[in-house]
Amino acid sequence: MNKKLINIECPTCGNPIVSKYANGEVTGLLLHKCSRCKRYWDLNYTTGTISWVDGKPDKTPAKNFIVDLSTGKTRPMYDKALLRRKGA
Ligand SMILES: [Zn+2]
Repeated sequence: MNKKLINIECPTCGNPIVSKYANGEVTGLLLHKCSRCKRYWDLNYTTGTISWVDGKPDKTPAKNFIVDLSTGKTRPMYDKALLRRKGA
């Protein structure tokens, strides 16, 4: 197989929760479960966002993340440093 794959990481523990083809278009909402930390995530491929659904509710302070679908990396949707710069 020569197609390049992107591993999308669990926002909390970094474990890959799903793989997609780098050039393959995926849209819509899919539920993924992290096999390591057992959290459930709603991954919206259309908007590039990932939201916590279930698992370890008391240990999951941040629940909404932005996912870079070209690298698989995630970052918190509400960036504290960014909010500070905007004076919020
Ligand atoms: Zn995880």
